[in-house]
Amino acid sequence: MSNVIVIGGGAAGMMAAYAAGMCGHSVTLLEKNEKLGKKIYITGKGRCNFTNACSEEDFLKNVVSNPKFLYSAIYTFNSDAMIDFVEMHGTETKVERGNRAFPASDHASDITKALKNALQEVNVDIQLNTSVSKLIASGDRVTGVELKNNKQLSADAVILCTGGLSYQTTGSTGDGLRWAKNIGLNVTDTRPALVPLNTKEPYIKEMQGLALKNVKLSIFNGKKKLYDEFGEMLFTHFGVSGPLVLSASSIIGKKLQETGELKAYIDLKPALSFDELDARVLRDFNDNMNKHLSSVLRGLLPASMVPVVIDIFDFDDMRQINSITKEERTILVELLKAFPFTITGLREYKEAIITQGGISIKDIDPSTMKCKNINGLSVAGEVLDLDAFTGGFNLQIAWATGYLAGISID
Ligand SMILES: Cc1cc2nc3c(=O)[nH]c(=O)nc-3n(C[C@H](O)[C@H](O)[C@H](O)COP(=O)(O)OP(=O)(O)OC[C@H]3O[C@@H](n4cnc5c(N)ncnc54)[C@H](O)[C@@H]3O)c2cc1C
Repeated sequence: MSNVIVIGGGAAGMMAAYAAGMCGHSVTLLEKNEKLGKKIYITGKGRCNFTNACSEEDFLKNVVSNPKFLYSAIYTFNSDAMIDFVEMHGTETKVERGNRAFPASDHASDITKALKNALQEVNVDIQLNTSVSKLIASGDRVTGVELKNNKQLSADAVILCTGGLSYQTTGSTGDGLRWAKNIGLNVTDTRPALVPLNTKEPYIKEMQGLALKNVKLSIFNGKKKLYDEFGEMLFTHFGVSGPLVLSASSIIGKKLQETGELKAYIDLKPALSFDELDARVLRDFNDNMNKHLSSVLRGLLPASMVPVVIDIFDFDDMRQINSITKEERTILVELLKAFPFTITGLREYKEAIITQGGISIKDIDPSTMKCKNINGLSVAGEVLDLDAFTGGFNLQIAWATGYLAGISID
């Protein structure tokens, strides 16, 4: 039996503490907040989309950074195992569109409740309001932790689960990333991900509040296409947001930080080819020869886009349809197929669902979550250089890596 300290009572830390306790170790869970799982309460808009009930293969397809590293973790503790775990600890679950799993009550607190029951079952010593200030190391071995009040606690094994840098008010302030650097682990560059994007053109902000459904968003670095997906997006007072944009941020974030600007295009009519849309516009024009351009555009576009489209191409909205040339119609159709704007940056960590980057997976054994070159230290959860799309995948990464770290303690 080992004496194990788990730092961080978030998703990964609670699961790691449970798994180590289940294996018969004596486990202490240290959490700086006044309660466990503070971030879990705000996940899934308070409903906690705690996993995704898909196959392991599909799961790994939704992991953006380092999916291969997760093979052992996800095959050891998959989404079915997590659903069973939650149910066995007193919380009923349900699966919604896109295999997203939630507590049946729609209350995120019920997921934390299940975890707390599990921790109690295996006698984990939970110490709240307990902030760790550093790892204590001797040679190539971590031997314990020092608390903010200078007290030192020794351990045979420490599991680091301090999370990333997003939504810092929940406790994830990057402490683990700093300690990791100090003891010689590699930490890859971090950036906000699953985050809204800032844009340049004032006309984007003029459309704030407008949500677009069934559009295609494409993002380019020069001629190179970086992102191309269908879905929903939203215009805001600073730029763009919504599911399509959040996913895009995870793919383009690194390049955006390198280049400072990327060009984006919205295909407002992705179901129609250019020629099909041109034929549709021509039909509309023929039916409305004596009307103004703006009144015809209202049949093609959401109302708040009409003045913007007219403005961008310097059309006069009082122009009658019968005066519009074929060349002008072509420009209009091009605009509907590729409405342009410029992305200038990621929004901040406080708006980011996840942190991209973290402790390098090259320093971690994927079959145990132990550090390869530092004895007595394991790592799990968002503090690692792992991130996925929305849909329950990020929490499942935390559960699975936490579980594997816990059961792998000697
Ligand atoms: C708004 C929002 C919504 C989200 N919704 C979903 C969703 O529906 N589904 C999904 O899969 N993912 C979601 N996520 C992502 C998910 O919450 C994270 O991936 C997950 O919480 C990571 O778990 P973790 O345990 O690694 O880190 P965290 O949950 O950040 O936990 C880290 C813990 O460590 C503690 N800690 C840090 N430093 C110290 C220290 N020095 N001493 C002691 N304790 C310390 C912190 O207080 C914290 O409790 C969402 C994230 C956000 C911000």
